[in-house]
Amino acid sequence: MYFLYLDDSGSVLNTTEHHFVLGGVCVHDSKIYYLRKYLDEYAQELSPESPDTLEFHASEIHSGLGPWKGIKNRKEIIKRVLRSLTDQYSKTAAFACAVYKPDCATKDPVEYAFEDICSRFQMFLDRIYRQTREKEKGLIILDKSIYENVLQKLAISFRQGGTRWRIPRDLIEVPMFLDSKSSRLIQLADHIAYATFRRYQADDLTYFNIIQDRYDSDGETIHGLSHKQHSMRCTCPACLRK
Ligand SMILES: [Zn+2]
Repeated sequence: MYFLYLDDSGSVLNTTEHHFVLGGVCVHDSKIYYLRKYLDEYAQELSPESPDTLEFHASEIHSGLGPWKGIKNRKEIIKRVLRSLTDQYSKTAAFACAVYKPDCATKDPVEYAFEDICSRFQMFLDRIYRQTREKEKGLIILDKSIYENVLQKLAISFRQGGTRWRIPRDLIEVPMFLDSKSSRLIQLADHIAYATFRRYQADDLTYFNIIQDRYDSDGETIHGLSHKQHSMRCTCPACLRK
């Protein structure tokens, strides 16, 4: 079974930001233990006294807020968290959808990105089946957020009527919502969403470069990263390698 942990980055309502991102990590159940262990051990290294209360939250770390105030080499902390993904080669993949808000004025960016990712997750499960003949199920787990009610309803309507692109028949039930404080995998999803957001919002490749090869892909085609825009000639990997 595959779990897709998702978090968002950027604010839908903030008009000074032109992008909104939903993104995260897809993990086979056999790999969850190792990813969590990697991140728990890193938390232990940074905070030997109280590793369990140390939460990796990328925007806070990047800006030096909260417990990260005054901490040096903070960019290296975010990179080290993201490297957990590159160290777990098989059976993990990043997914993200970056919505350029000015081009999607008639749509809700959260719903639009969620529908896109549900469809791409089903595409991933279909490919696993074609390659291995193993029928895997999928479950989406999101950071507990204000979108909970909206996304629960949306997931039900997708299963009944399909998304715009395909019917997510292998996704189990409605999505689950977890508090990021209690889930290292949601914290990793937060870092993937933030790395993608910095790429599109600020042209900052510092974090994106670390995971660029980890978005779900099949040969030269990237399926795990999508950029919803139609008004610019964009050279991002998602627009170039559709
Ligand atoms: Zn693009």
